[in-house]
Amino acid sequence: MKNKKEAVVVFSGGQDSTTCLLWAIKKYDSVYAVSFDYNQRHRMELKCAKEICDKYNISHTILDMSLLNQLAPNSLTRSEIKVDSDAPENGTPNSFVDGRNMLFLTFAAVFAKQKGITDIITGVSQSDFSGYPDCRDIFIKSLNTTLNLAMDYEFDIITPLMWIDKKETWELADKLGGFETVKNMTLTCYNGIMGDGCGACPACKLRKKGLDAYLKTK
Ligand code: ZN
Repeated sequence: MKNKKEAVVVFSGGQDSTTCLLWAIKKYDSVYAVSFDYNQRHRMELKCAKEICDKYNISHTILDMSLLNQLAPNSLTRSEIKVDSDAPENGTPNSFVDGRNMLFLTFAAVFAKQKGITDIITGVSQSDFSGYPDCRDIFIKSLNTTLNLAMDYEFDIITPLMWIDKKETWELADKLGGFETVKNMTLTCYNGIMGDGCGACPACKLRKKGLDAYLKTK
């Protein structure tokens, strides 16, 4: 085990993972950001991710995950599928990509182990998990155990946002000195518009609701 504190951040260039990146920069001596290219409809995401990493001088690796699009066509990867504006009563919304977080975290873990790193940071949150089963704490704990057993290694999957909502995520970014970065340089919008986004899709609505609530308390 190394003495230097190092971490791998699963990094999409969105609000949550950018807040996690800022959090990791404060906590660790060295941070590696890993993004995934799965032919997501909004390739801007990867551009945003790169620009943010450049700004903070963080090593950025983009891993090819195009098979995810091949296996699980979805409203975030196929332009002919419209994003559900509200979560359905039963089942997962059509913006949910089957297996995404499990695959991303598994590949991030392989990447981390090659570098002798145990700490993997991801921006999942159970507080507003939008019906995504792989954002729940129980899934993360279960996968952590599985990865440890799979690679005979002591991974630690760390989820700084697990129990906080979007308002508190804005507050955390501000505390970390990254409010403007998150506001202007990230991409959360399902319609691929940077910063404040289109204002109409579920991701924009959730982001704006949190931002308004935070600005009121500021
Ligand atoms: Zn939007």
